[in-house]
Order: sequence, then structure tokens, then C-alpha cells
Amino acid sequence: MSDCIFCKIIKGEIPSAKIYEDELIYAFLDISPINFGHTLVIPKEHHQSAASIPEEVAGRMFHIASRIGILLKRLDEFDAYNLHLADGTAAGQVVMHAHLHVIPRGAEDNFRWNWRQLNYPEGKMAEIAADISAKLAAKLNG
Ligand code: AMP
Ligand code: ZN
Repeated sequence: MSDCIFCKIIKGEIPSAKIYEDELIYAFLDISPINFGHTLVIPKEHHQSAASIPEEVAGRMFHIASRIGILLKRLDEFDAYNLHLADGTAAGQVVMHAHLHVIPRGAEDNFRWNWRQLNYPEGKMAEIAADISAKLAAKLNG
């Protein structure tokens, strides 16, 4: 898309600290990292949602992101990494070109996800699982 900042990065119209590129994907350092080395892996084709990325491209993104994560672990104080993808504004997506974050993590990095853990009322978990699996099967087969 012509006004998309990540499409401009892929075309070289906006500078980026490139990590990796092939025919399907592009990876570069996030300009405001959680930790140094924080990388974004994006499809070269513009997709707003991860759901519309072709399987081959999405697979490549996940594979390369994991490989980058392994390498980031070897940087200085890191011993782990998170993969993160925000799909939609309410989920925290700011740049509307789907991107997979690779975030190097260390036990002492002082970063905490604000990750809550609710409890299902009796019967609700099975009800939701049945609903989602039926709708997913209909979508995938339809
Ligand atoms: P999200 O909130 O998942 O949409 O993340 C968007 C990310 O893109 C943020 O972490 C930004 O720091 C990053 N970002 C925005 N503009 C640039 C840019 N020009 N170069 C590198 N990273 C960027
Ligand atoms: Zn784009």
C-alpha cells in the first residue's frame, strides 16, 4: 500500500536496520525496542491482518523469527525470546501491515507482560471450545 510505512521500508523509501530479506519476507530492528535487538519480521506483500497472509509466507515468517530469536539469545544478557503479533487496534496493533515481533528476553530485564489469568465458570470452557471449533471447521471447509 502506498501510504504504509512498512511497505515504504521494504521499498527502501524509509531507512531501516535490516536483519534479513528473502523473496517473501523482510526483517529489521524495531525503532523503539523492548530490549536491544528487538526485531520485526514482515511479509513483503501488504497484509493488514495475519489471517490473510498466505500459509507459505506465514510459515516463513514464523521460521525466520524463531531462528532470529535463537541468535538474539546469544547477544549479551539474553537467554530467551518472545514472539508477539498484535492483530487489530484493540490488541495493540499500531502499524497496519502485519508484523511478528521477536523480543530478546533476559531473566533480569525488568520487563513484565501485563498478562492476566481469568477463571472459566462451570461449563463455559467446553461451550466456547465447541462454538469456536464448529465455526472454524465451517470456515476451513467452506
Ligand atoms: P505494533 O504495536 O505491534 O503495531 O508495533 C509496531 C512497531 O513498529 C512498534 O514497536 C514501533 O516501535 C515499530 N516501528 C514503527 N515505525 C518504525 C520504523 N520506521 N522503523 C522500525 N520500527 C518501527
Ligand atoms: Zn504495507
